[in-house]
Amino acid sequence: MDTSLKKYIRHIPDFPKQGILFYDITTLLKNKAAFKKAIDGLAKIAKGKKIDYVVSVESRGFIFGAALAYKLGAGFIPVRKKGKLPAETISADYALEYGTDSLYMHKDALKTSSRVLIVDDLLATGGTAAAVCSMARQLKSRIAGIIFLIELCGLKGREKLKDYPVYSLIQY
Ligand code: 5GP
Repeated sequence: MDTSLKKYIRHIPDFPKQGILFYDITTLLKNKAAFKKAIDGLAKIAKGKKIDYVVSVESRGFIFGAALAYKLGAGFIPVRKKGKLPAETISADYALEYGTDSLYMHKDALKTSSRVLIVDDLLATGGTAAAVCSMARQLKSRIAGIIFLIELCGLKGREKLKDYPVYSLIQY
């Protein structure tokens, strides 16, 4: 764990609604040394995994995923909400507090047996990352790992992702 990065994460009570404590990463992003340290830390975890594609979820996941893909020399695959991707898509549902939502990926995004790294800013319940895994599996790619900048350990998101190697740089 990199405790030195913790001081750049701002905690916002009652966002986006009453009772939720939001971990704000914009305060890390705007600090050039902290942002570099975060990307370098994620890249260190991914080292040696021979990644073909980094897959990330809009929108905060794109910030870390795209920078990491560049650093690893991998391609970048965006996962988006409904109606945003222009070509034919596949989808996966994930649970919200009330009801469900869906995420989408282009049907031709991943080649069979390609090595995929899933990257997001934060692991909470694990539902979002599990939906991305389900799409990567639909496209018969191999999930080499799932990397988060922040993990909220108390929510046990890892349990939903137990079939894959899960890593995080900062834990609460
Ligand atoms: P999960 O599906 O694991 O419950 O939620 C993780 C997703 O919600 C991630 O895509 C993440 O961007 C977003 N998320 C949930 N809570 C927070 C938070 O406190 N801070 C940030 N930056 N993202 C959050």
